[in-house]
Amino acid sequence: MVDMEKILISACLVGDKVRYDGKSQYHPLIKELLEKYKLVPFCPEVEGGLKTPRVPSEIKKDKVINQEGRDVTRFFKEGAEKALNICKYLDIKIAILKDGSPSCGSTEIHSGNFDGRMVKGKGITTTLLEQNGIKVYSEKEIEKLL
Ligand code: SF4
Repeated sequence: MVDMEKILISACLVGDKVRYDGKSQYHPLIKELLEKYKLVPFCPEVEGGLKTPRVPSEIKKDKVINQEGRDVTRFFKEGAEKALNICKYLDIKIAILKDGSPSCGSTEIHSGNFDGRMVKGKGITTTLLEQNGIKVYSEKEIEKLL
């Protein structure tokens, strides 16, 4: 039997309660994905050393700042590095990451001013994975993979 291709996926999309607010973001197409792929759930913010729930953070220029004004960039970079290491170790070429997140966003992120506005942009993990040749899809594009 041929091995199923592996996909790195934002852990919140498979139902893990790892979001900043302690909730998950289960996606209804996960079951269909599992029929075709082996999913490797991963949360860069948790793996980078942040707790759940946690103070929300947004990207501001080249830093990630939380809502209390603390620079949390190093946690986000650590999580991104770990995501890349897993992809290399498991020979993963595709990731499905939750859009809008300062780690996992691929088309949009929050403005950086905690004003609820979204702007075009990518999260820290998405950027690093793409720089290393990994194709990142947002959860809105899952159907392209089915
Ligand atoms: S960092 Fe990514 S995987 Fe973790 S909760 Fe946020 S969107 Fe989900």
